[in-house]
Amino acid sequence: MARQTERRIWNKAAECMDREQLRELQSERLRAVVQREYENVPMYRERMQAKGLTPFDIRTVDDLRYLPFTEKTDLRDQYPYGLFAAPRQEIVRIQGSSGTTGKPIVAGYTARDIENWSEMVARAVTAAGGTNESIIQVTYGYGLFTGGLGLHQGASKVGAQVIPMSSGNTARQLMMMEDLGTNILCCTPSYALFLGETLRENGVNPKERLQMKAGIFGAEPWTEEMRQRIEELFEIDALDIYGLTEIAGPGVAFECLEKHGMHVNEDHVIPEIIDPVTEEPLPYGSKGELVFTTITKEGMPMLRYRTHDICQLDATPCACGRTFVRMARITGRTDDMLIIRGVNVFPSQIESVLVNVKGVAPHYMLVVDRVNATDQLEVQVEVTEEAFSDTVSGMERLTREIQEKLKSVIGLSARIKLVAPKTIPRSEGKAKRIVDNRKL
Ligand code: ADP
Ligand code: ZN
Repeated sequence: MARQTERRIWNKAAECMDREQLRELQSERLRAVVQREYENVPMYRERMQAKGLTPFDIRTVDDLRYLPFTEKTDLRDQYPYGLFAAPRQEIVRIQGSSGTTGKPIVAGYTARDIENWSEMVARAVTAAGGTNESIIQVTYGYGLFTGGLGLHQGASKVGAQVIPMSSGNTARQLMMMEDLGTNILCCTPSYALFLGETLRENGVNPKERLQMKAGIFGAEPWTEEMRQRIEELFEIDALDIYGLTEIAGPGVAFECLEKHGMHVNEDHVIPEIIDPVTEEPLPYGSKGELVFTTITKEGMPMLRYRTHDICQLDATPCACGRTFVRMARITGRTDDMLIIRGVNVFPSQIESVLVNVKGVAPHYMLVVDRVNATDQLEVQVEVTEEAFSDTVSGMERLTREIQEKLKSVIGLSARIKLVAPKTIPRSEGKAKRIVDNRKL
């Protein structure tokens, strides 16, 4: 049940659009984006040509299925500018996220892209009860990561008073929340849990000392149990927000106070669910891999981007009045990407670091756990016979070297555990390199 009773919609004309009309709009925008990609991005032109397609073959949303897919590896191969579809002078922003190996993936935005992204987030903020009266604390990291600036721009568009805290420093976060009278907190759900627990440990009764009404939490998977716990700790409505750098950032989809699925901003992106093996589109209600086509982006539009996130779409009407389909919580991935403290981590990135360190063998195991609501990553790696007979300080040096190199590639500190040669279990076929002990 929602604690807040007043329900607002930021852009009724768009968010409550008749679905037939929406389809028309999507088809029109799809035609334009396909044309744009064909003319400006060699990779897309070549892929369409290989399928015997010209832009004129894509007339409506039903023709989406003929278009080629885009994968994260395409962003890596085309890094940094190969997928940009606007001239350099029109790009006003770069954001980035971790790629599958050492290089990040980057996305370019035109001024209009930033405007549209802010619009998507403004809808999410409004759905959480945010107005120009609200005080909004943004605790997502600022920088290349889309979380901080994404929520910041959306909250600013609504006219709220924004506190750009960025991540970390729990005591300061809680102090500002109380002193400034924060109404809406934006951060990862696991950090929200940690903040809430710390608040209670400090003996703070939120009813007496805080002005909190809602939270907008995303960037990593969470559960209904976590929602309940966070809602009790802060006495708020805790809402989910979804997004990815390749498509825009947070705000691709957002929850309303009904709390049963996130409305996808369908006037800006078209979602599909496909069977990850046959790659065939599946009807609403089926579980499968989520795929997005951006239909308003100029800087770096994406045709059928495979998110590898597993979920379902629901097109039945929502009591809030919005007509956009709702995506369910993400229940898993079709690849081996881990999300640790909100950061995407691929085992291949870690491997790319380890193979370049003298003294260790490319046999490793990743152990992930959640301690005090904070994700911990331990990298267990075998040392070579020579390194194994080295001095203690030699081993310490090796540990530090791996730690620093890993941090510069994945952007996270990990605990490094050097283990004796031949102690990591060898497997036939696909190696099992991940032990995830987090109980979500
Ligand atoms: P973000 O800033 O949203 O983390 P990234 O591009 O770094 O963007 O990562 C995108 C990935 O993060 C998604 O593909 C998905 O796996 C995960 N993610 C983002 N939001 C959510 C959410 N609300 N629930 C579950 N997973 C999420
Ligand atoms: Zn709704």
